[in-house]
Amino acid sequence: MTRNLPQLLKSIRVPRSFSPSQLFDLRNCALRVLAKRAERYLPPPPSALHGILLHHVREQMLLGRWGNKDSPEEAFDWILEQASFRLDELLAGEDKTKYMVPLRNTIGRRKWNQKTFESKLWAISSGLESCGQDPGLLEIERTNDGVEYNGENNTCEEGAEALVKSRSLRISGRADLIEKLNHNRLRITDFKSGKFIDSHGNPLPRYKLQLGLYALVAEKVYPGRSIELRLDGARRLRVLWDRSLREFCSKALEEASQTYPAGTVMEANALATPGSWCVGCGLRPRCQNYLNTVPAWWSNSGDRPRPLPIDVWGEVLETKIYDGATVLEMQDDGGRLIRIKGISMERDLTRLDVGKRVYFFDLKPTESLSSHGRRIHPLNFHDIPPDGGLVHSRATGLQIFMGES
Ligand code: SF4
Repeated sequence: MTRNLPQLLKSIRVPRSFSPSQLFDLRNCALRVLAKRAERYLPPPPSALHGILLHHVREQMLLGRWGNKDSPEEAFDWILEQASFRLDELLAGEDKTKYMVPLRNTIGRRKWNQKTFESKLWAISSGLESCGQDPGLLEIERTNDGVEYNGENNTCEEGAEALVKSRSLRISGRADLIEKLNHNRLRITDFKSGKFIDSHGNPLPRYKLQLGLYALVAEKVYPGRSIELRLDGARRLRVLWDRSLREFCSKALEEASQTYPAGTVMEANALATPGSWCVGCGLRPRCQNYLNTVPAWWSNSGDRPRPLPIDVWGEVLETKIYDGATVLEMQDDGGRLIRIKGISMERDLTRLDVGKRVYFFDLKPTESLSSHGRRIHPLNFHDIPPDGGLVHSRATGLQIFMGES
């Protein structure tokens, strides 16, 4: 069943606290960072869901919630299996995500196995122990972010998924692991399933900022205690908590607090700055700046931001049925003639009038995304892969909306 394009987001109320894992992104697009989770209209991309799954497994391992399993290896496999099953159930229950099931196939066997292997290796080598309790239930919406401040001024819990918040600093989030190493030493660890170092092996600034913001709160709660910061993933990396990082974090926080006063209502258009960071943003169908700006960037001539989300919208020129699926030709809002093949009949696009406006978000490209070493935006797209999945994959997150004609 087709739906109309959702209402544009007009304004947002600036939250009282910033999430340490997102503060760095304010320099790209403030709307994406400051809008509430509920305002997002597109589901998280499959890679983000995979991250949520592995994060959950790691959390249960750290908490020792291994049920009756004895070895970390056995426990890891068991928790992953249970959590994957649960995640697939949740995805299957929503129209927006039902085509992503099973997520294992959507991610692809190679990537799935590689990430699983890395996480399992970590679990086996971390000296973890069982507490005998059963694993908690995985929730898609629960992440490290978005914990609103209420209650006492500064909190820095210890353990896995440790709450870290400060009213005066306007910070609120959860650190993956905070450990008291001895009476005067604290270690804060954040786990990363993706890339977290640059080409020289140094931690990326966004993750230094995230850890540093936790450290700023920890210093308030435990004055005088020395703090060790660590990133943990495919490898383990220490991040030096020194004067320079403290100043970098304090300055970033101060600038954010001054630019975005808590509780003020701000216009969405004044906060939205489109760019390559629009990839994966769930606000796209509701973001006027994105919808107005990006069509001019679809052309592959000149110097335009890349990558862009694999979205396209415009006016229908022709629809036909081919090989049991819909093929749609459109003139997109960038003035290009584009073709979308293999649109599942379930999506109900067989009887669209010429001139009807249609919006597609998260299609798959039916052509290479690079040409002569340059990243391009495609002209040919699909829903169901034309090669049966040999090279191309299904657009499992595809969302389609009708516009005003
Ligand atoms: S779509 Fe782009 S410009 Fe709009 S909120 Fe998301 S990241 Fe910002």
